[in-house]
Amino acid sequence: MITIRDIRVIATQPTRWPLVVVKVETSEPDLYGVGCATYTQRYTAVVSAIEEHLKPALVGRDVSRIEDTWQQAMVNGYWRNGPVVNNAVSGVDMALWDILGKRAGLPLYELFGGKCREAAAVYVHCNGRDKEEVLEQVRERMEEGYHYTRVQMGGYGGLVSGDRKPEGAVDGVYYDPRAYCRNMLDMMTYVREQVGEEQELLHDVHERLSPIDAVAFAKDVEALKLFFLEDILAPEDNAWFEKVRAVCATAISMGELFVHPLEWRPLVENRWIDFVRMHISTIGGITPARRAAEFCEAYGVRTAWHGPGDVSPVGHAANLHLDLWAPNFGIQEWCGFDELVYEMFPGLPEVRGGYMYPNDSPGLGIDIDESLAAKHPAKPEVIEWTQTRLPDGTPARP
Ligand code: MG
Repeated sequence: MITIRDIRVIATQPTRWPLVVVKVETSEPDLYGVGCATYTQRYTAVVSAIEEHLKPALVGRDVSRIEDTWQQAMVNGYWRNGPVVNNAVSGVDMALWDILGKRAGLPLYELFGGKCREAAAVYVHCNGRDKEEVLEQVRERMEEGYHYTRVQMGGYGGLVSGDRKPEGAVDGVYYDPRAYCRNMLDMMTYVREQVGEEQELLHDVHERLSPIDAVAFAKDVEALKLFFLEDILAPEDNAWFEKVRAVCATAISMGELFVHPLEWRPLVENRWIDFVRMHISTIGGITPARRAAEFCEAYGVRTAWHGPGDVSPVGHAANLHLDLWAPNFGIQEWCGFDELVYEMFPGLPEVRGGYMYPNDSPGLGIDIDESLAAKHPAKPEVIEWTQTRLPDGTPARP
């Protein structure tokens, strides 16, 4: 029996975001796996949960018992399914899947049931200060071969701020949801007119609207035929998706904030959304993601896993293996990484002509250069961008 000999956590920050990677070492010399446990904004809590709680409970266990380990790790602290616990469990879960693939000599997508496609279509971000700059970026991406482009103007919330603050208003990231709706509709209408209907457009509302404004916005953009409109409501307003569905056929994606199956299950069962896009490490890893994908397939809902820069390259590799396998794969978000990140994570999937390709190495097909990672240690910092406020200073969801 091959057992877990050690569990090590690497917290590194090659670019803007702290990344957490777990390395599970086994009783076999040179056999180890890597997993993503990246919860950028509270990463030290995840490191502690793994080192001080999961590791003592899991060392000595059979590496082949992935499901058993996941079930036990998820309830080991009795309370479960928070983002810290889920990320900690994910780090171990992905690493055990990686080990299984290496033992079998097969890439993970083959163990899941084999490829349904040779590569995963990706969408990339365009974010301009005005609509002309957004269009310019879309055209650049189109020339690079990207068929799917997410269009934003002024970042999340549109960053239309400020001038209506009351006297003495506190500091923060101010935005105006009503102005946002008007400006985004104008920008997206302009871009659609310029690029035509062939190019797919997406947009992320980032849960910044009141529920009824969200319903109206989804209806207003219907004619633009977006590939999807993302996170138009906060998870707390899930029941409002029924109202969105009732008034328009705008394709809806949801879910990067979800941490519990009870959050996405009713949306899928009621067919109120078209794409689920959970952050794989924040739902607990590959094991629950496969279950979610299969559940969604039965309801005609497609996957669009979260893929920003605060998913580690190991997490992106996990996304890709799920994408290649799932019959109901929809699209993959892709942020792009610079040379340093490719150097630090050998095997990081490559994107060419709008598609992300696997490298066909066993397991996840990715590794981490620990000595290079150590030269770029993660640093805790106060998170500013989530300190969002409405025009009158009221705290708002980021
Ligand atoms: Mg998003």
